[in-house]
Amino acid sequence: MKTTLVAGGAGFIGSHLCESLLNQNCKVICVDNFITSDKKNIDRFIGNPNFIFIKEDITKHLQLKDNIDYVFHLASPASPNIKSPRSYMSFPLETLMANSEGTHRLLELSRIKNSKFLFASTSEVYGDPLESPQKENYFGNVNPNGVRSVYDESKRFGEAITMAYFRKFDLDTRIVRIFNTFGPFMQADDGRVVSNFIIQAISGKPLTVYGNGTQTRSFCYVDDMVEGLKLAMFSDNSKGEVINLGNSNEKTVLELAKLIKKLANSSSQIIFENLPQDDPKVRQPDVSKAKKILGWETKVDLEKGLLKTIEYFKSL
Ligand code: UDP
Repeated sequence: MKTTLVAGGAGFIGSHLCESLLNQNCKVICVDNFITSDKKNIDRFIGNPNFIFIKEDITKHLQLKDNIDYVFHLASPASPNIKSPRSYMSFPLETLMANSEGTHRLLELSRIKNSKFLFASTSEVYGDPLESPQKENYFGNVNPNGVRSVYDESKRFGEAITMAYFRKFDLDTRIVRIFNTFGPFMQADDGRVVSNFIIQAISGKPLTVYGNGTQTRSFCYVDDMVEGLKLAMFSDNSKGEVINLGNSNEKTVLELAKLIKKLANSSSQIIFENLPQDDPKVRQPDVSKAKKILGWETKVDLEKGLLKTIEYFKSL
């Protein structure tokens, strides 16, 4: 049985990853400090003998006796919505440290334990991109000290230190850049566009489009993302690579609002609010590298994924 450490395993994507690893008979050590995640995301695994939970901050020393075959680093606040209590802007220093010192400590652990390592980076390393779709070899257009910089720049540092461990110690690392992802277990107060619009639509409140809604995003269903993360970790040819993971189906935010309103049979209005600072105007992954080296492609289309997510939020 393989042992996997999932840092950030109580988060939205992390908890789906834990579930999928448990289902394929891995032992899962989940480390999380619940700074922006939630215990309820992992309640369903408690009692499973293959699931171990450690409440700890990854920037602190982790004492682990077990052998560890794989380390997934997904531990970071990730919501850019300043209105959300879970936003990385509410935790600027914690976000910087999770992706810098936290990444350093997990890389060191991987080196000592001889584990394979995956760093969950982000499409935000491309900033407000001047090229679209974004390929992995695009260096991005990032404001180094703007409000989003605590996330963008610390993820860029996380990528740099991951590559340093690969180059200096030949550590078996890979970096994945996660684009917008949605699905059940998104936090209701995360402030993400999909969760906000769904909650607004099913409760009859106006859908709040920021700016004029012409900015674009490409939304990936969480099951596809988890498949991509596992392939990136377990494939033989991902060592030292940087790989985009996301859905390439690009939509404007206004199109998304209209689609969610329709799928939820909602009579809510659509209203327009101020666009946040440094909000990227476009975002669309080029996923040809993931297809080539991992054989990965998204399977769940946007409408199907949104319907499942609407059902989840209705059930709460
Ligand atoms: N957005 C919006 N209304 C909301 C929340 C977000 O129009 O209630 C916009 C946001 O300004 C951005 C896009 O939707 O242009 C995606 O935002 P999200 O916070 O989900 O993630 P991002 O892609 O910015 O990291």
